[in-house]
Amino acid sequence: PRLVKNAAYTFVRPDHIENPELLAVSKAALKDLAIDPATVDTDEFKETVAGNRIITLEEGKEPEEKSIYPWAQCYGGFQFGQWAGQLGDGRAISLFETTNPATGKRYELQLKGAGKTPYSRFADGKAVLRSSLREFVVSESLHALGIPTTRALSLVLAPEARVRREMTEPGAIVCRFAESWLRIGTFDLARSRGDRELIRKLADYLGEDVIPWETLPGKLASDEEKDVVHPSRGVAKDELQGTSDKPEEQENRYSRLYREIVRRNAKSVAAWQAYAFTNGVLNTDNTSIFGLSIDYGPFAFLDNFDPSYSPNHDDHMLRYAYKNQPQIIWWNLTRLGESFGELIGAGDKVDTDQFKNEGVAEEWIQDVVKRGQHIIQAVGEEYQKVFLAEYKRLMVARLGLKAVKESDLDDLISEYLGFLEGLELDFNHTFRRLSSVSLEDIDTDEKRKEVAGRFFHQEGLSGLVGSEDDARERIAKWLVKWADRVKEDWGESANEERSKAMKAVNPKFIPRSWILDEAIERVEKKGDRQILGHLMEMALNPFNEEWDGDKEEAERFCGDVPKYQRAMQCSCSS
Ligand code: AMP
Ligand code: MG
Ligand code: MG
Repeated sequence: PRLVKNAAYTFVRPDHIENPELLAVSKAALKDLAIDPATVDTDEFKETVAGNRIITLEEGKEPEEKSIYPWAQCYGGFQFGQWAGQLGDGRAISLFETTNPATGKRYELQLKGAGKTPYSRFADGKAVLRSSLREFVVSESLHALGIPTTRALSLVLAPEARVRREMTEPGAIVCRFAESWLRIGTFDLARSRGDRELIRKLADYLGEDVIPWETLPGKLASDEEKDVVHPSRGVAKDELQGTSDKPEEQENRYSRLYREIVRRNAKSVAAWQAYAFTNGVLNTDNTSIFGLSIDYGPFAFLDNFDPSYSPNHDDHMLRYAYKNQPQIIWWNLTRLGESFGELIGAGDKVDTDQFKNEGVAEEWIQDVVKRGQHIIQAVGEEYQKVFLAEYKRLMVARLGLKAVKESDLDDLISEYLGFLEGLELDFNHTFRRLSSVSLEDIDTDEKRKEVAGRFFHQEGLSGLVGSEDDARERIAKWLVKWADRVKEDWGESANEERSKAMKAVNPKFIPRSWILDEAIERVEKKGDRQILGHLMEMALNPFNEEWDGDKEEAERFCGDVPKYQRAMQCSCSS
């Protein structure tokens, strides 16, 4: 293993692979990258996403044009709460950046599974089909669900790259892309080495190139403003309580950058909770600076609503269970705050040359770091508020309401989650099935009890949850409250419009672990080349009622999760 210091990346070339097979391409990704779909059938496309063709070199340009020579990033991370030292892109190699002229969005394209890098440590730099297929599908699926995520353009099979895991398997390469691949771990590593220069360079790079300074919340702490600007700027007025007004906690551009990163992550984790997505390995190296869902290993969507579920077979302490995600992301963001501590604590002294590594008074650093800690605390409150506001917004929309009411969290959402958990109902199916319930379906107690049965699994309730009658009554009671809130927001007759609005936020299709497993099996063992196309059609249009392709298969994928394939866990040697 090579320790790479004073740098955040290393130039590196992907391995050459023999006979790559292009298994699948995401239509949505083509569009977002402004790639003409007609090029997908060319050899150039295949060879590029297989890592065999480096566009820059092929065009005869010199590798001196470093900005477009492939590279791997250097980062560290806290894994399961413990400092793990230098990690880095052990099998991910970035190819180039490209800007979509229509949207102005710039993406960094990267191959995962393309061979060893200086950061591979003791591993082989490769990926197997199983994990690659999972990452390919879920990236595009989360994006279609409206959840911020890194993306995936293509999935390539490398039949001759024999990868040794529990057994020997063919290799695979995913071409993925994101507006930024920086992680909290990128900063962790610089901090662990006391590399203050690099931390500042990285933060400046973010503000200048990735999350522009002028888009950040709050205002610049210029001379006139420095007395009034403080960490809670940008938060609604009535949310200001509890944050400090002290002028020494004034806000500079780095604390605004930190807050923006925190706010983005708060929103993403709120979306995970609202759609019951679990990452499974929320180490700081797997937490995005850009607020994206990132690094897909043993992820899963919940089937039955079980807040203690962790998809990670090795997560014995349930650190990365569904219910812990908001707290874990804050834990990770606190580590980032500590890396930023000196920058955010320096207030208006930020532009002085105090940040040069030499000649800084120790007391000055101590003082600045202490102020930084106060700011992290205040930002923690902002994190909670942004998280909760986004979570409520999404949940209330999923329940078919137009606006959030103060009482919704306790009266409606909590009780709903209570019976989902208590009766072991399927989280995402229940929302979708509720979308089709009209107010006339539930205007008498008898009808409500009848409708309650629609939320059960086909084989009925689990034997452990009590009597079916009690269950129906519990749901029926909640349906009364729900109907009242629906009427409040829509009036008596808004069945059709509301149902449509609900179906636009409550997916019919979710790429559950059992479906991905079936697809892997069919591609690997049966040579099936249809399934991926069908799966992607569904993943990219999850709110549809139906899709092109095999209707029976589509209904099966959207139906009950087979009883013994619920809440599967992944040991994921990938
Ligand atoms: P993860 O658990 O996927 O976040 O990976 C943690 C670290 O291990 C990252 O630095 C990965 O790049 C690296 N890594 C995982 N699998 C491999 C592999 N097969 N070859 C090289 N590096 C790997
Ligand atoms: Mg990782
Ligand atoms: Mg990984």
